[in-house]
Amino acid sequence: MTNDWKTRTKLVHEGSRRSQYGEMAEAIFLTQGFVYPTAEAAEARFVQPGKDEFIYARYGNPTTRMFEERIAGLEGTEDAFATASGMAAVSGALTSLLRAGDHVVSARALFGSCLYVLEEVLTRFGVRVTFVDGADLDQWRAAVTPGTKAVFFESMSNPTLEMVDIRAVSEIAHAAGALVIVDNVFATPIFSRAVDQGADVIVYSTTKHIDGQGRALGGVVCGTQAFIRKVLEPYMKHTGASMSPFTAWIMLNGMATLDLRCRAMAEAALQIARALDGHPALARVIYPGLESHPQHALAMAQMGAGGTLVTFDIADGKEAAFRFLNALQIAKISNNLGDAKTIATHPATTTHQRLPQDQKDALGITPGLIRLSVGLEDAGDLIADLLGALEA
Ligand SMILES: *Cc1c(COP(=O)(O)O)cnc(C)c1O
Repeated sequence: MTNDWKTRTKLVHEGSRRSQYGEMAEAIFLTQGFVYPTAEAAEARFVQPGKDEFIYARYGNPTTRMFEERIAGLEGTEDAFATASGMAAVSGALTSLLRAGDHVVSARALFGSCLYVLEEVLTRFGVRVTFVDGADLDQWRAAVTPGTKAVFFESMSNPTLEMVDIRAVSEIAHAAGALVIVDNVFATPIFSRAVDQGADVIVYSTTKHIDGQGRALGGVVCGTQAFIRKVLEPYMKHTGASMSPFTAWIMLNGMATLDLRCRAMAEAALQIARALDGHPALARVIYPGLESHPQHALAMAQMGAGGTLVTFDIADGKEAAFRFLNALQIAKISNNLGDAKTIATHPATTTHQRLPQDQKDALGITPGLIRLSVGLEDAGDLIADLLGALEA
């Protein structure tokens, strides 16, 4: 998937396919199956389908394939496989690769469902999992051994926006012969350089920035042709969590504006972080784009920006945090992210409610913590909304 196109050109054109009608917009091929001209052609296609030949929508579809080629082109990987949700992508990438007796090392700060897959599902099938503090390279060095099959982490953690050094962890993993699987949702495909930094497999929930308008669940796994077609595809196509063509069409349309949206969100996020930093009602403001963030230099080297989320801790705890949320006029109380609409989340009582207190403490999920996914509204309006709600 290599050409000389720049990001914005790829986002509009990469992977496009046109039917005999020469339609301008990407067509939605809402078909589960395909008609073969002859019995011989059907037989040949089951042996090895050609580039524009499809068998069944669970295996692949022209609209889904356009999306896979577009994201692979953007990410700089040889290939990609689109899935029904972000969790289908994460669980597919891990489960297709691992078998009983294998060892995985994972960062501890994970999206709740990712933690469930590693802690509850994989271990049930005899996979050994070691959790480490993702920001502590010594812990990675100690945990990764020559028998380790894969490492897994979110390149920027939820909700406390801690960075994992992709390059450094990849060096440790590769020295032991382990595959590096990165959940890159918070970094977005726009600020991602994960392949250049050593990642082997990159996973996105396309529900987030790639759709960007909160309409559809989706996911994608990007990697080498060998991993995507020989390891992942057989597993996905036989277990069933493939992306629907209609969803792929939504994601294709989302990608056309992905660069513009992510950059606008990150600019607004920086303005918001600066406006909130030092506010007397806040115990702290966490944004990797702020010079005060302990991993600011790493964030700039790894992503070139601070991302589209800002997290802050309301000093007076849960009641004050709820008063703040209930006083917001523009930002919505919800738990998605990467949406055009700004979303405020109270992780302790929603996304991370299930975690025992000691784990909340370890992850820095305090009673006053608010995670803000910055949308596409005017940054000045958002700052006024946030400052006004803090007065409450
Ligand atoms: C949302 C999310 C997922 C899961 O994606 P779904 O599309 O909701 O299944 C996985 N990892 C991270 C970091 C996420 O933010």
